[in-house]
Formats: sequence, C-alpha cells, structure tokens
Amino acid sequence: MPNLGVYIHIPFCASKCLYCDFYSLPDASDKLMDSYVKALIRHMDEASHYMGKGSKGGVALDTVYFGGGTPTVLGPARLGELLSALRKRFNLVTSPEITVEANPGTVTLKTLKKLRKAGFNRISIGVQALQSNLLQTLGRTHTGEQAADAVRDAAEAGFLNISADILYGIPGQTRAQFSETLRAVCTWRLTHISLYGLKLEEGTPLAAADPVLPGDDEQADCYLAAVDLLRQEGFQQYEISNFAKRGYLCRHNYKYWTLEPYVGFGAAAHSDFGSKRYSIVKDIRAYVSKMQEGEAVIEESQAIPMSERAGEYVMLGLRTANGVSSNEYTRLFRASFDSLENKLERCAKWGLAETEGDRWHLTPKGFLVSNQIIGELLNTGDNPQSPKKDAEKPSRSDGASSEQRID
Ligand code: SF4
Repeated sequence: MPNLGVYIHIPFCASKCLYCDFYSLPDASDKLMDSYVKALIRHMDEASHYMGKGSKGGVALDTVYFGGGTPTVLGPARLGELLSALRKRFNLVTSPEITVEANPGTVTLKTLKKLRKAGFNRISIGVQALQSNLLQTLGRTHTGEQAADAVRDAAEAGFLNISADILYGIPGQTRAQFSETLRAVCTWRLTHISLYGLKLEEGTPLAAADPVLPGDDEQADCYLAAVDLLRQEGFQQYEISNFAKRGYLCRHNYKYWTLEPYVGFGAAAHSDFGSKRYSIVKDIRAYVSKMQEGEAVIEESQAIPMSERAGEYVMLGLRTANGVSSNEYTRLFRASFDSLENKLERCAKWGLAETEGDRWHLTPKGFLVSNQIIGELLNTGDNPQSPKKDAEKPSRSDGASSEQRID
C-alpha cells in the first residue's frame, strides 16, 4: 500500500468571489466553525478504526492538505487542533508535506507563526492578480500589496515552501498586466506557482455579467509566454498549471495525477481509496448533523473498473510533464499501448507531444489543447489540431474535482 494523502476540506470563506462556483460558505459564525471542527475530528476518529494507528489496515500518511474555501478563516487555533487530532489518530511519515491554503487578508505574521508552530510546512496563497481593477472584477477582498505582505510574512514566519495562485484571462486584463504580475511574483520568496486560466462558471455573478474575456489566441500567448518566463526564473513546469523550484512540486496534488490513494474529510471532500471513489455530502450543516447523529456522510461511492483506471492513467498522466509510460500502461492494465502510441505520434508531428524512451508527454503547446488530445486518445473527442485553432486553457476546474482542486 503506497503512502496515503489526506485532504481536509474547509468550506468557509471571508466573502464570496464573483467567479467562484466552489462549495464554500461566506461569513460563517464561530459556532458553526466550532461544530464543523468537532465533526471533522469525529470523522477522523471513525476512519482511524480501519486505517489509523493501531488498526489492522494502518497506513502511513505522507501528505496532508487543508483546502477550501479559505482554511485560514478558521484561525490557527482550530487548524492546529485539527492537525493535532490527525496526528494522534494516524501514522504520519517523518517528513510529511502539510499544506494550508490561505488568502491575503486572512493571515498576519502572528497567525502564520502559529500555523508554522502547529506543524504546517507549506502554504498556498491565492494571489490571482496584483492590479486593483482586476481584483475588483474578481470580487477579491484583498489588494496586491496584501498579497505581497502575505508571502513575505509567510517566509518570515518560517515557511520555506510557499506557493502562489495566479490567474490569466481575467476580463479587462492586458498582456502587460499579466506579465507585470508574473514578473513581480517571481521576485518573491516563492517555491511554487500555480497558473490558471479563468473560466466563466455558470451560475456565478461574473458569468451573469457576461463580460468580454481576452481572446483565445491572446490567452494562449499569455500561457506560452508564462511557461517561458517561469522556466527562465527557475520554475520547472511539472503539470499543465503547476511550476516549482527543484524539489518543491506539490507532493499532495501529484498524487491525484499519478493515481495514488487519498482520503478526504469534510463536506464535499472526495476520496480515492481501496479501489473506490467516494464523496462526502456537500452541505456543511448536513455534514455536522450527520456526524453528530452517527449517520453515514458518504453521498456517492463507486468502484473503479480497470478499464476506467486505464483511461484515468492516460488522462491524468498527460497533465504532467512526466507523462505516461507505455511499459507501465501495459504492466498495470494488461493492455496494448499501440493505438495510443499511433495517435501520440500524430500529435508529435504537430509539435503537441514528445517521446523519451518508453514515455510520452505533451509539450506546452499540447497542454493548451490537452482536452482535445486526451479526448482523441480515449476515443471521446475530435482529432488533435493546431493549438491556435481552438485554444483551451489550463483551468482551475480541470483535474480531480471542483472542491478538491489542483491548486
Ligand atoms: S475563489 Fe477561493 S476565496 Fe474566493 S470564494 Fe472561492 S474558495 Fe473562497
């Protein structure tokens, strides 16, 4: 059994951003947050009976990820309590990666020091953009200066592993503004950058306003220029949307793309464990009350057939710079890689894919049309074509799930 990743979903936010369709509650009361923490600890307790310390199926955890929402609205005391409850019930490896997502304006040097002391060793900060007009368009409640302060304070508090989320394709964003943001954040003490293309999600106030987005070609140019700039600044691209200094790729999120098991706690969390994928009820109050009453909180559960796993191996593996291996595919799924290889060879002629030994991976141009390529490989889409013809963008909702997003 490989080491396990644990995801803890904290679906609270200071306020709701205009583009966000993730499950999160703005402005929750202390009482609700306290009840939620209790419910999470009870959930951990239950799970520890079959995978925790002392259980027969005891597994080692090597990554823990507090995602949201905005976990830091819980405050360092509650977050510390949750981490300590997890440590008491599960075996953590000697050097686990323990991430907390944060937003500027929800942390101070003092709270960051407390988080560091509680054991968090990686922080992912939602910067998005530095220009006030763009932050207003997104409905973010912080400024660019606050984002810079949050990163500086995190470093001062002792975080050596700091990530920033950056958005491109924001209505009204010029290439110059995007480049200015990227160049500025490269001067900060970051080890990791996640770069997402904004998607207008149905039902959000931003989508309802029907704004004009930067054109597809312009966004494709922004993405490719960013890949180049980040490489020059020492950030290696290891996934469509993710760039890290050497040794700092996000170990937790990498599990999603390499089909390693993970278990999620909290409302709307997802798990992939024991050959099953399951999700928890997507309602904070229902989750709290069900945990109090000892009722089941799993909403959907599905056994994953081998054929589906094979498709996931290709779909998720091709998001990474490491790509997929024909030998591994054949060994894991007892299936021929030949037809996939033929299609990848066609992609290579377009400059969309490359091969090295028995491995295939997409190029940055290929990443831009990865959905089309993967659709064709898995026989569910159109033929691959030139990226400029129908540029897609790596978006924050590609990947594991909307709540357990890869960012
Ligand atoms: S984008 Fe992040 S901070 Fe904004 S509402 Fe959504 S989860 Fe909360």
